[in-house]
Amino acid sequence: MQRTYKFRLYPTKKEQENIHFVLERCRLLYNRLLDERIVAYKQRGQSLSYYEQKATLPERKQYIPELKCVHSQVLQHVVQRLDKAYQAFFRRFKNGEKAGFPRFKPESRYNSFTYPQSGFSIEGKHLRLSKIGHVRIRLHRQPQGMIKTCTIMIKNDKYYACFSCEIESVPLPASEKRIGIDLGITKLAVTSDGERIESPHFLRKCEEKLKRKQRAVSKKMRGSNRRYKAVRELARLHEKVANQRKDYAHKESRKLVNDYGFIAFEDLNIQGMVKNHHLAKSIADCGWNGFVKFVTYKAESAGRQVVKVNPYGTSQRCSNCGETVKKSLTIRIHQCSCGYVADRDENAAINILKLALQNVS
Ligand SMILES: [Zn+2]
Repeated sequence: MQRTYKFRLYPTKKEQENIHFVLERCRLLYNRLLDERIVAYKQRGQSLSYYEQKATLPERKQYIPELKCVHSQVLQHVVQRLDKAYQAFFRRFKNGEKAGFPRFKPESRYNSFTYPQSGFSIEGKHLRLSKIGHVRIRLHRQPQGMIKTCTIMIKNDKYYACFSCEIESVPLPASEKRIGIDLGITKLAVTSDGERIESPHFLRKCEEKLKRKQRAVSKKMRGSNRRYKAVRELARLHEKVANQRKDYAHKESRKLVNDYGFIAFEDLNIQGMVKNHHLAKSIADCGWNGFVKFVTYKAESAGRQVVKVNPYGTSQRCSNCGETVKKSLTIRIHQCSCGYVADRDENAAINILKLALQNVS
């Protein structure tokens, strides 16, 4: 199983210069390679492969000496990145999806480079990067498993190292416990056991702050320095909120996967409500997608089963007798003529679990 760890870097002025230098060299190479692919195809009807392009690197170093100041594998990875962009393009094209052709990258769209194998090592509080330096790193946890690649990334003027690690998956002891989960708007989720997973307070607080910053931006004059600064601050806060949300989703999904052997969700892709603009915003805000994704991959590596069901009718149907009890979104209690009374979302969660069990049996 793959797992990615992201750590903040604190490069010195000189190291920052080196990072930007490598980044710019990679970007220019990327654009050059893309151009050569396009020209080869237009003029000779020939498509250049990864290997053909990779083989040109030593020669390029002869007439562009700056390339010698970039770790050779980092350059190879640029060739690979372009090749991947091509493959993705053809795959989308074949699947009849909207297929954007690989594009030339302006500076604003090229913010990372990768050491695919070697040229980097963690040494105490520093990350040694070939051709860059001995960069201070904040390791808030130790990466587990085998580190495969190291990507250096710049975002909102901050520097990060992302390690992609290969971890052996360890199955958890079997669990007979089963649970259905209804994703909510005011809370993150309600389970068929009647448990609530709240949207955390710190997120709500941050959201208020976000709104204030957003207003601050719109009040400043376009093109002004102060507006630029406000935009920067807003972007940083956005990132902070996204990180907190992710941490929270990680924790909550871990709890679920540790406890339950069978987990049922509504399938968000066939959720009709996503079409509703207002609700769609809430969905994005409460981070359902991340939550479901985390549960799914954690469950997979732990040998748990996750089933997604069509949520149609799950909030209207009585989980006790199967009767349909129509109710608008404002009615929070499910009350059936059979005598069954429950929280609206809990009733839905039980229906989701039932549907999932039917689907697998
Ligand atoms: Zn009923």
